[in-house]
Amino acid sequence: MMYNKETKNYNYYDILEKGYLSFRKISFSKLKTAECPLKYTLKYIYGFNTQIENIHLEIGKEIHKLFELTLSDLKNNTDKNSIEIMNILENGTYKQKFETQDVISALFNIKKKANILLEKYNFEMEIEKSFNYKLKEFELLGIFDLLFFNPKTKQVIIVDHKTGKKIYPNTYFVQGAIYKYIAHNVFNSNNVKFYLNYIVKNNNGEHLIKVNMEKDKKYEEYLYSIITEKLNKYIKNPFKKEENFLCKYCEYYEFCQKYKNIEYSNVLEYIISYIDEKLEELEFAI
Ligand code: SF4
Repeated sequence: MMYNKETKNYNYYDILEKGYLSFRKISFSKLKTAECPLKYTLKYIYGFNTQIENIHLEIGKEIHKLFELTLSDLKNNTDKNSIEIMNILENGTYKQKFETQDVISALFNIKKKANILLEKYNFEMEIEKSFNYKLKEFELLGIFDLLFFNPKTKQVIIVDHKTGKKIYPNTYFVQGAIYKYIAHNVFNSNNVKFYLNYIVKNNNGEHLIKVNMEKDKKYEEYLYSIITEKLNKYIKNPFKKEENFLCKYCEYYEFCQKYKNIEYSNVLEYIISYIDEKLEELEFAI
């Protein structure tokens, strides 16, 4: 047991081990979280949910849902999702950030392109489907928002929907590298492309993330080194705060602010008392 509430004892090595085991299953979002080891520990080791609503996350989920419903109708040649689509378009939270017209045009645009790939170029389409593949001791996981596969040419096109204030394509290079590695192996294809389909304020579009898949062996080593580098950073100090420009959107921001000046050696005790305090609040609320 990592922590015994009655004796107030905790086992630092258990936490490291759980962190390491948790890292065996690698996803892009986990790797991204690990850029701040403290956030990773709170989220994946303690499973600590602050219950803080994140409006940006909610809007992102809503836009993903709209793409999913629209493309499912296209795939199944029906309009059974149209009422749900209309409902979200009329009443959605996304309106706090985006114009309805921009969202409709993004839906129209992706539907048109998907239709061309399906009808004219005989691709098959998968929506919100997860795939995995081994890389040495790791199991890489990817939930592909949208995937097109041509069984004849073995061409694969992966599309990932993004929403935000601005798009920073470089931050998705690692995601592109992981997704391309999985698709390359699962579909036995040397022709895999990874695109971002983005909706940002007053600007919709797509961006191709370039990752070289030609030299397989080197690529595998390269990807492995990225993953182990992040893992080692976490193992070295699972309580290290790595402040960054996204901190204000972090669900643990309040925690970080409250304990801004504490010594790292005391972080674990603070985390435990903070979680206890929050749990009591939640119990009280129930
Ligand atoms: S607020 Fe920033 S430093 Fe603190 S846990 Fe979140 S990402 Fe890490």
